[in-house]
Amino acid sequence: MFNALVIDKQDEKQVVEIRQLDDSALPEEEVVIAVDYSSINYKDGLAITGKGKIIRNFPMVPGIDLAGSVISSKHPCYQAGDQVVLTGWGVGENHWGGLAEKASLKAEWLVPKPEGLTGKQAMMVGTAGFTAMLCVMALESYGVTPDKGEILVTGASGGVGSVAVTLLKQLGYRVAAVTGRPENAELLTALGATRIVPRSELEGKGRPLDKQLWAGAIDTVGSQLLANVLSKIDYNGAVAACGLAGGFDLPTTVMPFILRNVALLGVDSVMCPYEKRKAAWQRLSELLPASYYAQACTEISLEQVTEYAEKITLGQVTGRTLVKL
Ligand code: NAP
Repeated sequence: MFNALVIDKQDEKQVVEIRQLDDSALPEEEVVIAVDYSSINYKDGLAITGKGKIIRNFPMVPGIDLAGSVISSKHPCYQAGDQVVLTGWGVGENHWGGLAEKASLKAEWLVPKPEGLTGKQAMMVGTAGFTAMLCVMALESYGVTPDKGEILVTGASGGVGSVAVTLLKQLGYRVAAVTGRPENAELLTALGATRIVPRSELEGKGRPLDKQLWAGAIDTVGSQLLANVLSKIDYNGAVAACGLAGGFDLPTTVMPFILRNVALLGVDSVMCPYEKRKAAWQRLSELLPASYYAQACTEISLEQVTEYAEKITLGQVTGRTLVKL
């Protein structure tokens, strides 16, 4: 038997509850895992509250991240006792996910636990931190190096944003952190922000081209805020866009692209191929300092997940939320 958070439909309404399930209820897959930790991402928040159409098959165990050890494996790459990490691949959306004491998954979705990280630390990073690393790698690939100037991070006190600030600082960039919560300025400065930009400065309809302020940006917000950021990026700069916390539209013009050679780099973590995944995890394990794990994470139990799912959709969570199974 094992405990799982289950999302089900009753009379067309979504219900979320902790259930004790028999092992035979697990999906038939290659690797069965004892889950030690999961985490709460924005997408988990949308799924669990039902505010986003993330889940279409019921009953579903949510949780797009997990870390744990292999109980049994039908795949030659994994043996009982191996420590593994999973993010993405539609797990917790189309396939039972990490907010349960056990999971049954395809071997190709897993990565061995990165050297230098505990499973707990890997979940303090989770999909959000992994995505932040992919965003930094996207900026690097466009030649946005630390000597080019300051980098803007939007939604800075969130999961992706707080890891992005930390990683950029560790790599020697100057970081401007955008936040709508001035009370988080101290934490963001401790993580590595050299300057705090109030979110209000980037809201409202802006000009198609504005004063050039940043060599690059990592954007987790989308919508008008992203449009305003694009108009302020330096010639030859780039924005790595991964999120929609402010909306999925993008009311921009072609001006930054055709007059300033600005690039808009899309970042998806879910289907990221295995080799890039491993490389990103290795860099995360090398770059994140011990202080990150002490400053930017909250640990909760399975019983508290629905409360934190609601909070993350309201923009009330700071840093990363770790779930102990
Ligand atoms: P999160 O922890 O909730 O962080 C989002 C942050 O955005 C909030 O902390 C808040 O920061 C800011 N924010 C919230 N509502 C806003 C609004 N209406 N307007 C402007 N800013 C707002 O979420 P997360 O897990 O870091 O994810 C961030 C975004 O990235 C989400 O949209 C998520 O879906 C996306 N994401 C995408 C991928 C991918 O593979 N592409 C992977 C992970 C996440 P402040 O209070 O500091 O302003």
